[in-house]
Amino acid sequence: MDKRDYYEVLGVSKSASKDEIKKAYRKLSKKYHPDINKEPDADEKFKEVKEAYEVLSDDQKRSHYDQFGHTDPNQGFGGGGDFGGFGGFEDIFSTFFGGGGGRRRDPNAPRQGADLQYTMTLNFEDAVFGKETEIEIPREENCETCDGTGAKKGTQPETCSHCHGSGQLNIEQNTPFGRIVNRRVCNYCHGTGKEIKHKCSTCGGTGKVKKRRKIAVKIPAGIDDGQQLRVTGQGEPGTNGGPAGDLYVVFHIRSHEFFERDGDDVYCEMPITFAQAALGDEIEVPTLHGKVKLKVPSGTQTGTKFRLRGKGIPNVRGRGIGDQHIIVKVITPTKLTEKQKQLLQEFAEISGADQKDEHEEGFFDKVRRAFKGE
Ligand SMILES: [Zn+2]
Ligand SMILES: [Zn+2]
Repeated sequence: MDKRDYYEVLGVSKSASKDEIKKAYRKLSKKYHPDINKEPDADEKFKEVKEAYEVLSDDQKRSHYDQFGHTDPNQGFGGGGDFGGFGGFEDIFSTFFGGGGGRRRDPNAPRQGADLQYTMTLNFEDAVFGKETEIEIPREENCETCDGTGAKKGTQPETCSHCHGSGQLNIEQNTPFGRIVNRRVCNYCHGTGKEIKHKCSTCGGTGKVKKRRKIAVKIPAGIDDGQQLRVTGQGEPGTNGGPAGDLYVVFHIRSHEFFERDGDDVYCEMPITFAQAALGDEIEVPTLHGKVKLKVPSGTQTGTKFRLRGKGIPNVRGRGIGDQHIIVKVITPTKLTEKQKQLLQEFAEISGADQKDEHEEGFFDKVRRAFKGE
């Protein structure tokens, strides 16, 4: 049974004022009141008038009724009727269903190309001093045959006949909530809004080709493990005239045989003999900048640190240069000749007693000579 329109029930126009509605209700409710009216359908009519008044006298309910009619969306749509024509509904459902909220993306707008990442493994020294090199990366580039359009020479891509160039299709569906409209990426043109009738044979209509491209990279001095360098504009090409993406070169730095890096500083262990440690010596130490002479004072303990200023790594941002730290390790000899044993035994015996300086000197000279194999 079809419900009558509430305005029709009360005999008022859709633009009726609150007063007009009230007057109409009073008149009709008296007319159909079951106590007064003894006609068989009076009761039914009285209820109908009452219901119409309840809705039309309430601002909120009335506007809801004006918009949705007899159907209350809060209680579910009945009958799968046609609910087209009330604006805003589509967007509500797009949002509910994660459809992007109706934000339309123009397929012809310029878009930046994708960024690329390349991992480069460097020798310790190359990271310290930097270098200019070339890398070869596979990347997508615009097809030269068709200038990136994907269309055969002499032809042009046409506007997609399915989505009329918007790149999106509206798909209407009947659901328990009524008919809803979903927006999807056009599956004929994949969102480009363009249709290629005659495909370019070089790229197969994609407008892009995979190429191995050599790119010059200037590695800055002082680059550290895990740091990256951006090479602007060397990523994949943009579409519709958009800029190319960037290339990020991520550095992995090989460890060094005996240098260890900490920021801009370098650490290195230096073995010295027991005699060198006890007597002191001038030793040669390797640095990244060549050999350097280091004075080891007499009585140096194992694990003592010496600092060579400015012999470390240049700061990658140009803020000075680090230091080199040398940690001396006193090596205990493991293989001794008979002579060495004899001298060390002698040394041990003398060490037990109080020593005089000049006596010590003579003894250490002997030991030193012994170590040098004289
Ligand atoms: Zn399309
Ligand atoms: Zn092509």
